[in-house]
Amino acid sequence: MNNHYDIWLILLSLSAGSFAMYITFGFVEHLYRTTSPHRKTLFNIYSIAVGTGLWAIHFINLLVFHGNQVFTVFSLAMLSSWLVAVCVGFTLCAAASKKIVNLNQLMLSGILIGLSSYLMFYLALSGLNETHDIWSFSNAISFRPLPLLVAIGVVFGAATLALTSLSWMKDYAGENKLLIKLIFSVITGITILAIHATFNTSVFMETHAIQAPTSLTNKNLLAIVITLGLVCLFLLAFVVALYYEKFGVSTFQISIMDKQNSPDTTHSGYKDPLTQLPNRRAFQRELETAAKRSTRAGSTIALAYIDLDHFKPINDSFGHHVGDAVLMSVAQRLNTAVRVCDSVARIGGDEFVALIEEIKSDEDIIPIVERIVKSIKEPFLVSGQQIDISCSVGIAVYPRDGDIEKLMICADAAMYKAKENGKNQFKFFDAEIELASDQMLEMQRDLQSAIKNNQFSLAFQPKVDCKTQSPVGVEALIRWNHPTKGIIMPIAFIPAAERFGLINQINDWVVEEGCRAIHRAKEAGINLNVSINLARQQFRNPNLVDEILTLRKRYKIPAENLMFEIKETTAIKNEGQFKHLLRQFKAADIKVALDDFGSHQFSLSYLQHLNIDEIKLDKVFIAQINENKASRALVDAVIRLAHALDLNVVAEGVETESQREALADLGCNQMQGYLFSKPLSEENLFKLLKQLSTNFESTGQFLVSDYQSEAA
Ligand code: C2E
Ligand code: CA
Ligand code: CA
Repeated sequence: MNNHYDIWLILLSLSAGSFAMYITFGFVEHLYRTTSPHRKTLFNIYSIAVGTGLWAIHFINLLVFHGNQVFTVFSLAMLSSWLVAVCVGFTLCAAASKKIVNLNQLMLSGILIGLSSYLMFYLALSGLNETHDIWSFSNAISFRPLPLLVAIGVVFGAATLALTSLSWMKDYAGENKLLIKLIFSVITGITILAIHATFNTSVFMETHAIQAPTSLTNKNLLAIVITLGLVCLFLLAFVVALYYEKFGVSTFQISIMDKQNSPDTTHSGYKDPLTQLPNRRAFQRELETAAKRSTRAGSTIALAYIDLDHFKPINDSFGHHVGDAVLMSVAQRLNTAVRVCDSVARIGGDEFVALIEEIKSDEDIIPIVERIVKSIKEPFLVSGQQIDISCSVGIAVYPRDGDIEKLMICADAAMYKAKENGKNQFKFFDAEIELASDQMLEMQRDLQSAIKNNQFSLAFQPKVDCKTQSPVGVEALIRWNHPTKGIIMPIAFIPAAERFGLINQINDWVVEEGCRAIHRAKEAGINLNVSINLARQQFRNPNLVDEILTLRKRYKIPAENLMFEIKETTAIKNEGQFKHLLRQFKAADIKVALDDFGSHQFSLSYLQHLNIDEIKLDKVFIAQINENKASRALVDAVIRLAHALDLNVVAEGVETESQREALADLGCNQMQGYLFSKPLSEENLFKLLKQLSTNFESTGQFLVSDYQSEAA
């Protein structure tokens, strides 16, 4: 036997072993996650590839230890050793790609791989026999018991290590994944070499049993075989990955549903046409079946509610085709992030759900949701544009958190908490969220009944001219007259109404009631200008302009009596829609004010491109106008620019005489605040306006003190 090992061959063996292991990591991970209906085929291809890779490395090692002997590659012995290697490939792939690999399976696979490796080695050695006959070779070989024991120990340890690392890495979502995989790959490369070295020292062959060296350049031949084997492996990885990319998304394991009990969910009524994922309806059925299955098996399932953060502005800024492309990629990434046994569905515009089955504890869920969050955070490239979004995930566990009807609500509530906590994260449903979600449910029911029973009213806060202090109009502010809780301010229910999709109904009422108030004022001899707050969702109502025009006509309201306030933040977040709405408003002669101006870093120069009529300075600046030079400078700058652009400026939240003076000095047009009046009921407003006009007739002026009246 050759004791002068070729260092290049040793290095080649190490690199080949590491390379094969690295590719195997990818295969196992893919097998674990794929939702492709062709998983079985993939499994066969991968297993054969891994086996062939092992066989190729085995050859290099033979070359290392028996390089001066002759091999006949296409002998029965060599073919058998390839078959054994492929068996090892199957065992490795099957065991490592399993969802949970327990100790027994690990030991059994380790033993199986150990025995197979030994068989491979034995077969290969018999290939060195001059007759290439396995059976006659057995007479010429004898074993040294102690080294053999060591060899078996090494192979068993190596197999277990490879299996454990493969199985562990497929779920690993932490830092330095690449590095860890590389380290494991190199360790595997070394252990494969060690296996051969130890086996080699454990056998003793009679010299006549081994062929004498011949002139054949067997090293070259082997090098070709090895290279071919590894290249095949490499090509396969590519071909299969491409194949997966192409067909991976369109599939969903509807097969795991109880086919007898469920309708044909491949039907388009169960599929989201954009992403090809199951829709809400299909998911609901899937969830019910999974719950039944889990009750039968006494196991647990988790529902992850996935909501994309910052998705809506993408449609506005880049167009719907980009938004659609992002959603399709999201679907693909989610499908890759979950395991084979899990499923993903799209249940709303930018809302997805994942059903995570067969879990033992929250610990099993965490790597999956971590992968989900991380995969969405990766930038998306669409038509050369880089799009950055993230997602917030809420998780509810069945049966722990509630029955199947409640599960979606629980996960949704947890998702909102994840958003509240700063987005780009996941949150499990817990007692605190339960309390908040119970309150939310109560709020939802209460709001629905408030809409039905007309429990809302409008309060009106006067807007006052800075120079003359004459009343120039009012802002309409909603109030909820709750039957048991009394008056509820908008801040306490508008966000909930938005969340439950009830805001449109409420705001439609506000717009109509505002118009009715103008009409009633006219009948009472008052020319009333009313500003109405528009909610975020009203942007998306394509009939908004038509509806406003209809109301204006119905209540015979001149265009100048009605104005709409849109918050600066809403305008920025929905820039495209905002500009579109402004164009429509301009064409229909509907006035617009930019509300809470200055509360965000709104570029002043941006103002000149907007077709608006008024800006309302946020009360934060007014509160600091005399204490903070920067606030005063900003108010000054905004007023100057607004005037240059022919815009009206209203200061909000004016509470003191000194604030009023400062604003008057800076040339502000109008004011609104507690200094003059709190929001008033319609009745009190009309009374106040009449009183003011009477006072004016007698004194020829409007005084701040004239405004003091009963608040609404
Ligand atoms: P907003 O549009 O900025 O309305 C001004 C808020 O400032 C009102 O609070 C008003 O009562 C309050 N305010 C007025 N003067 C002063 C003052 O001198 N000092 C202080 N600290 N506050 C003053 P309100 O009525 O509680 O409304 C809060 C918010 O709720 C409004 O802010 C608006 O964003 C929203 N909102 C009110 N009504 C509606 C509505 O009908 N539809 C929609 N979508 N939102 C509404
Ligand atoms: Ca407002
Ligand atoms: Ca405001």
